[in-house]
Amino acid sequence: MRGPDDAVVRHAMLDHLARLRAASPTGAVHRDALNAFWVEGVHIPLVVQQGIRKPAWLEAALAIRTAYTPPGARPPYEDDLAGAGDGFVRYHYRGTDPAHADNRALRAARVARLPLAYLLGVEPGWYFPFAPVWIVGEEPSRAQFVVAVDEGQLYLEDRSGSGDARTYAQRLAKVRLHQPMFRARVLRAYESTCAICGLRHGELLDAAHIVPDGRPRGDAVVPNGLALCKLHHAAFDRNLLGVRPDLVVELTGALRDEVDGPMLRHGLQEMAGRRLQVPRERAARPDRDRLEERYEEFRRAS
Ligand SMILES: [Zn+2]
Repeated sequence: MRGPDDAVVRHAMLDHLARLRAASPTGAVHRDALNAFWVEGVHIPLVVQQGIRKPAWLEAALAIRTAYTPPGARPPYEDDLAGAGDGFVRYHYRGTDPAHADNRALRAARVARLPLAYLLGVEPGWYFPFAPVWIVGEEPSRAQFVVAVDEGQLYLEDRSGSGDARTYAQRLAKVRLHQPMFRARVLRAYESTCAICGLRHGELLDAAHIVPDGRPRGDAVVPNGLALCKLHHAAFDRNLLGVRPDLVVELTGALRDEVDGPMLRHGLQEMAGRRLQVPRERAARPDRDRLEERYEEFRRAS
């Protein structure tokens, strides 16, 4: 089979994904929308059975994909990032044979420094389409490729380096990939609704960490997340508003007693005593131990 040139397909794919992502309030996109991809009259579905996507007539892979991770489990790329600690994502070979055609297709993308798409499963059928990424290395003893998730990482040749370069690479991965992916997963779990006030407007919602990032239990998993609107997120982060382990909202005394305009009254004071709206799926609900840890902090602060 023949089809459009690599450069044409790749360019069109990056456009296609950027458009879909911009149109999605959570950043997550359904498989059907990802697969509605046509170039010069040729249909090129991006989500197929294999994790590594390479149209038959091209030499290099176009996209890599990871499956959906259940809410409590750390997504594979999180472990790969934490494990290596260098800010680069790892992507495993297809099977165990390094010479498998799909693995060769990733190698071809590496040699030519071609941008790829990285489709990360958010829930069954839904993906966070992340692009561009680049294959920048290979670790044959671990049967995996090394993936740069930001153009800035392309120039950090020495991944074993320490100090500033390493911190910079980690920060790029966090800001570019991990935070948006966490947001997409949490917003999907909460059906794009603020858990406190019920606001249903994706663009005004964030994924808040219950236990802050950087603490032992502060990982970016759904049970450590809450979908909150900007106001409630800021109030929660600053411990002006707390959530009891039984999911009831509390305010600091100062905020309760203050007299101000309608935003304070309706937006904050009326939230005291409300019960959090949490996901239907049990595994996606806030973890009680984490809520307790955070509530202690709120109590000390108020
Ligand atoms: Zn809210």
